[in-house]
Amino acid sequence: SVPLSFFGGIGGASRLGILVKGSNYLEALSEVDTVVFDKTGTLTSGTFGVVGVHPAGGIDGDQLLAMAAHAEAFSDHPIALSVKKAYLDEAPADSGRIIDQARIENAAEESGHGVKATVDGHAVLVGNDKLMSAHGISCPDCELTGTILHVAIDGAYAGHIVIADTVKDDAAQAIADLHAAGVERCIMLTGDREEVARSVASDLGLDEYHAQLLPGDKVEQVERILDSARGNLAFVGDGINDAPVLTRADVGIAMGAMGSDAAIEAADIVLMDDKPSNIARAIQVARKTMRIVH
Ligand code: ADP
Ligand code: MG
Repeated sequence: SVPLSFFGGIGGASRLGILVKGSNYLEALSEVDTVVFDKTGTLTSGTFGVVGVHPAGGIDGDQLLAMAAHAEAFSDHPIALSVKKAYLDEAPADSGRIIDQARIENAAEESGHGVKATVDGHAVLVGNDKLMSAHGISCPDCELTGTILHVAIDGAYAGHIVIADTVKDDAAQAIADLHAAGVERCIMLTGDREEVARSVASDLGLDEYHAQLLPGDKVEQVERILDSARGNLAFVGDGINDAPVLTRADVGIAMGAMGSDAAIEAADIVLMDDKPSNIARAIQVARKTMRIVH
């Protein structure tokens, strides 16, 4: 039988907007010494602004953004939402600009790489340098800071769009609180570029980061970190490309407001307000509950 104080602990957490799916997760959480974070949508807001459009090979900037927005039409990735928003927002108010689904065929997501689709009969690729090299398209090295979306049309490089995300208001405090609570390692895993990962990690005071990971690489990294952890490992994500990692961790924590249904399903704990600072709070509630139980 489950001691009554567990219900107190679960109830106390839920009043803070922290939904715990079972008393065993409170117990596991009380022994966490490593917290691994996904970047986009977890430590950062996941709402990217377009900060540069750099067409190449004859297309103009507006056409480049239009092709990218249409190729991203069916993706729910934070990057896709941001490109579509930029395309719609940058239109003159009376233009009636829409994303016209009749222009799009064969849209498909390539997890951790980007998207491909046929737009107006042209084969369009939008994504990172891995996507481009997988399709044999060479792209320039970008020294710019930000997340770079390369675009190729009919097998030819057509330019890149630079987008930038911001770290969440409470993210640095969240890491400081975890360290103060005795969590030894706060680690970030991301599919984004090394340059972006390095700057977020140093802004937030993370102990370690790993960049340019595919969804499967994130599982491998978590398994490697699990091997060297003395206590339990919590993984925090938004479920976009990271649901398998949520399942693999000792405690999977999902961002509930912006996170996907897959994340809420796969997680053991759901943060209703998407604030990373609630993780340290949840650990405190869990430890307090365990002191009462024992
Ligand atoms: P993160 O690990 O930061 O949460 P993801 O694993 O979701 O990021 O994505 C990794 C990388 O894959 C992104 O930084 C981007 O380069 C590329 N990518 C993923 N989805 C898309 C998309 N819909 N459009 C363009 N690029 C994408
Ligand atoms: Mg993600």
